[in-house]
Amino acid sequence: MGGMKSEPIAAATVFRAVMTAAAWRCQCTGVCGQPHAKSDGRCPREHDGYADKHGGPIRLLAAPADPHTPEREAVALPARALRAWCPGCHAAARKPAPAPDALQGGLFDL
Ligand SMILES: [Zn+2]
Ligand SMILES: [Zn+2]
Repeated sequence: MGGMKSEPIAAATVFRAVMTAAAWRCQCTGVCGQPHAKSDGRCPREHDGYADKHGGPIRLLAAPADPHTPEREAVALPARALRAWCPGCHAAARKPAPAPDALQGGLFDL
């Protein structure tokens, strides 16, 4: 247990376990806000695949199934609690959801 050294989200062995389970394909099923309807409801991006003709190869991430898990908790998660994410889905899924119910949640206490 070290101090504040920076670590990748998942170590290499965990990463491989997650990617193998995911068949090296993004496991997003719409959390990013896109229904991925053209690809059976699951993101079609694959590790080392190309998002488009101009971009570089995609590097999938092994990150918590719940993308809002804080990073210091995420690093301690076992492979089964992680999912394969393409960077686009992961970034979109981590954005705080627009919260229409903030209005009903006491945020504006009149
Ligand atoms: Zn994706
Ligand atoms: Zn997605």
